[in-house]
Order: sequence, then C-alpha cells, then structure tokens
Amino acid sequence: MATARMVSDLAAALNELADLIEARGEYYYDEVEQKLWIAEDDACEDCQDAADEGWVDMDFTYSSADFDADEPPLHPHCQCTIEQKTRRVRVYD
Ligand SMILES: [Zn+2]
Repeated sequence: MATARMVSDLAAALNELADLIEARGEYYYDEVEQKLWIAEDDACEDCQDAADEGWVDMDFTYSSADFDADEPPLHPHCQCTIEQKTRRVRVYD
C-alpha cells in the first residue's frame, strides 16, 4: 500500500519532471474543441451513459447497444442538449 510519504515523493518528482520539460520548451499550445452531453432530467439509461462520458473531443461518438450519435438527440423524444467549449492543451513533441 502506498504511504502518504510515497505519494508526496511521487508528486514532487512529477512536478520536477514537468518543470524540466517546461524549461526546455518542448511543447506548444493547441486548442481542442470539446463537447459535453447534458442529459435531460429524466434521461434514459443510454443518455445518462452519454452524459457520464464527461467532456470529450468533438469527434467522439456516443454509442450504446442501440444507438450511435455525435450529439443529441440519441433517440426519438430525446430532450438532451450538448455543451461545447474550447480547451487549451499543452502538446508535447
Ligand atoms: Zn436523451
């Protein structure tokens, strides 16, 4: 079992590594379009599963046993909506 000491040592090591990479400037920023499925109040299980994916890239396809969809509606009478945002991410070479 990991002790608190081990965890904090690991966290410190990761921070050092991040600082090293940053110092060398081996990354650039890119913008990624993301989307979030907002399930309606009484969403069906498939829609709830889609919402549970959280923020995903725009080209993500929500799929279940019965449906495949890039965005709502997933099925007839689906009242779900989609939220979009642009996220700035570091891209490391
Ligand atoms: Zn729905």
